[in-house]
Amino acid sequence: MRFCSKCVIPDTRPDLDFNEGGECDACRAYEMKHGYRKGLDWEQREKEFVEFIKPFKTGDPMRYDCIIPVSGGKDSTYQTHIALQYGLKPLCICFEPTLPTKIGRQNLDNLNNMGVDLIHFKRNPIIYDRLVMEGFRRVGDPEWINHVGIWTVPVNFAVAFNIPLILWGESPQMEYGGLHRVKEINKRLFDEDWMNDFGCLNGLRAEDMINESNGVSHSDMKMYIYPLREKLDEVVVNNVRGLQGVFLGYYFKWDIPTAVDTIETLGWRRRKGRVETTYTDYEGLDCYSMNIHDYLKYCKFGFGRASDDASRDIRNSRIDREQGVRLAERYDGRYPKHLVEKFCVRFGLSQNEFDDICDSFTNKELFERRDRKFVRDIDGSLVMKSKYFEARRHPS
Ligand SMILES: [Zn+2]
Repeated sequence: MRFCSKCVIPDTRPDLDFNEGGECDACRAYEMKHGYRKGLDWEQREKEFVEFIKPFKTGDPMRYDCIIPVSGGKDSTYQTHIALQYGLKPLCICFEPTLPTKIGRQNLDNLNNMGVDLIHFKRNPIIYDRLVMEGFRRVGDPEWINHVGIWTVPVNFAVAFNIPLILWGESPQMEYGGLHRVKEINKRLFDEDWMNDFGCLNGLRAEDMINESNGVSHSDMKMYIYPLREKLDEVVVNNVRGLQGVFLGYYFKWDIPTAVDTIETLGWRRRKGRVETTYTDYEGLDCYSMNIHDYLKYCKFGFGRASDDASRDIRNSRIDREQGVRLAERYDGRYPKHLVEKFCVRFGLSQNEFDDICDSFTNKELFERRDRKFVRDIDGSLVMKSKYFEARRHPS
């Protein structure tokens, strides 16, 4: 495992590449976004957006112009703010988080109160719970089905309501790197190919879950299955045929601290105290189990949410690399006891069963083992090999 010389992200992160100088491409994407290197012309991009949305603004009082997939998180409030600023009439759709938090619910209510219609999609919990455990056991991610639902449910609603535009937030490749692996068209457009390649689905498709013996039928999965191409093409408005999903981060500079400042003036709230898996108080605060996903990321790849947050803060010059290293060492990989307890109670697991599943996905190369078992400190945390702490402190 090797670390970026600018931020604290390792090369174990999927889809991330390093240049000869040891810089990761998330750092390079940040510099492009902010115009330090061959920068992006954001004024031009904004004009492009204004032109792009023209045919979608029908002025028809009986129609919505676009769908916005929302949660209680910061990005969806910012997406909604932009849509309203540019005169669009959105229908917001929330796919319920696995373990919703109180602050997430309050922020979702706040988003609703910004003056938009909101559908809170409460999925069948019996099927959903089965799929959470399937995702956990099969690909080591209890959030697998949540990711599927976040991507597919708004698309299914768009087809059903004949709403031809979906406004997504910033594409993860813009924030976390891997942009050069994305097809040119998918830097702007969201589609099924992008979802399968980059939607955190680990190669598992919704259709793979249909199994009558497990009690999951095709009908149970209908909202999790991406609509057929013909169905997307049937969506039509003002001579524009075919549903389009775009990343707003393509048109607008998605600077998180600035976005958070903006949405706080609109009533969005941070949580009190930090999120258990990191040091910030505004990331991943709408769902407890998203933090479990972050913990598993640490088990698989040796870095967690704190490394992501510190890397972003290094890039935007809020902290230096040395401080980033300290924050990563302090917060990444701490066993999230409170979250694990919550998850285990909700899904009827013992802590040992939970740990056994995590262990089956934990990277043997990165963590200390003894007698063919992972070494854990008394607080339950895995022990990363010391050479990797060194590698992060002194990237070559
Ligand atoms: Zn970097």
